[in-house]
Amino acid sequence: MPLVVQKYGGSSLADADSIKRVARRIVDTRKAGNQVCVVVSAMGDTTDELLDLADAVSPAPPERELDMLLTAGERMSMALVSMAIANLGDSARSFTGSQAGVITDDVHGKARIIDVTPGRITEALGAGHIVIVAGFQGVSQNTKEITTLGRGGSDTTAVALAAALNADVCEIYTDVDGIFTADPRIVPTARKVDRIANEEMQEMAASGAKVLMLRCVEYARRFNLPIHVRSSFSHREGTWVYQPQGEDDDVEAPIIAGVAHDRSEAKITVVGVDDSPGQAASIFKAIAEGGINIDMIVQNVSAVSTGKTDVSFTLPKTDGQRGVQVLQAIKDQLGFESLQYDDQIGKLSLVGSGMRSNPGVSATLFQALADNGINIEMISTSEIRVSVVTKDDQLDDAVRAVHTAFGLDSSDGEAVVYGGTGR
Ligand code: ADP
Ligand code: ASP
Ligand code: MG
Repeated sequence: MPLVVQKYGGSSLADADSIKRVARRIVDTRKAGNQVCVVVSAMGDTTDELLDLADAVSPAPPERELDMLLTAGERMSMALVSMAIANLGDSARSFTGSQAGVITDDVHGKARIIDVTPGRITEALGAGHIVIVAGFQGVSQNTKEITTLGRGGSDTTAVALAAALNADVCEIYTDVDGIFTADPRIVPTARKVDRIANEEMQEMAASGAKVLMLRCVEYARRFNLPIHVRSSFSHREGTWVYQPQGEDDDVEAPIIAGVAHDRSEAKITVVGVDDSPGQAASIFKAIAEGGINIDMIVQNVSAVSTGKTDVSFTLPKTDGQRGVQVLQAIKDQLGFESLQYDDQIGKLSLVGSGMRSNPGVSATLFQALADNGINIEMISTSEIRVSVVTKDDQLDDAVRAVHTAFGLDSSDGEAVVYGGTGR
């Protein structure tokens, strides 16, 4: 009997009626002759609400307790979905991440899955039950503590379980019809794509397209597992994230896969740094020792008269204040003049594997921004991506302008966003 792994995101489980609707879909999949293992997220914006609650009782909650709190969201969903299935006369068993055998490293808040031992899942499926697993969580191999996988982590739970169970298909159900050429909440004319190479999806996810968590795409790529992203609100065919088999498989692919945007970063500028060897090393060593991941870096040409330069870099907003503190602490040692912190920025990324062999992509991108009066603050590129930082309040316009400039606008109607708050 085929084995299907399905994941339902928070926007598909927002309230009791949504849970009943999802339960009906799960039971239908089972009735169609499949074994079904379902991964669920927390209902609606529950995770954000739990984070707000934690913040209200403590500005810096212990990581262990924060993970204990957050995993409760997915546990509520798993039990409620199981109950709704039982009410339809089918039998379901729910399991926490730990019970499902999701083994992680011991980093609270962004644990990595290192193994999946799904003995209890296989047993329950074999006994004829539908299995419901709480996403976004696991148990640390060393500390035996409960961990969470980072925001959007239920996607990774689903792919990891699909790989471990050798599933026939892994379906990610969400509140849009699949993967679009841009976020349909910002670009109503975004076009749904039928398929996207996992290399491109990986770059889109890394650039802020939260429709799939980055780690989930990396995992699927490693295990050569196709993913079907689709809506839980319609029965339309969604988007397949696939692994191209040889170059021929890629010839049909468009030059540009899509435009992603990201509002989660901030920018620090170190003003008046001596233009001498070792300065950048000291700055970024301090940042790294603070456990902070950086993204883009720009160093200006030094002014001839002073021999001083400015170094700017972006980092997650959530690490912003810490980044400033870390650098303040070495101000005297480094001898820079001052620090500037800006969290009103946004990043736009144009992604496509066709960039490798098509010159002029960056020129078209910069022209589109210029034509719309949008100033570029930073630029970075990879083989298949060009990213620019703009002012936060110009980002949406920038995304729409670039989307149009590359001919990505759909000619047949607006994209549907079925639910969710976009939070
Ligand atoms: P879920 O609750 O199902 O996990 P998410 O909110 O995490 O849903 O992801 C779905 C959302 O991702 C969509 O509602 C959409 O706003 C956003 N998104 C961003 N970029 C894209 C894209 N390129 N294609 C589709 N959706 C995108
Ligand atoms: N509930 C978690 C979050 O909001 C995990 C997920 O939805 O995938 O990030
Ligand atoms: Mg998600």
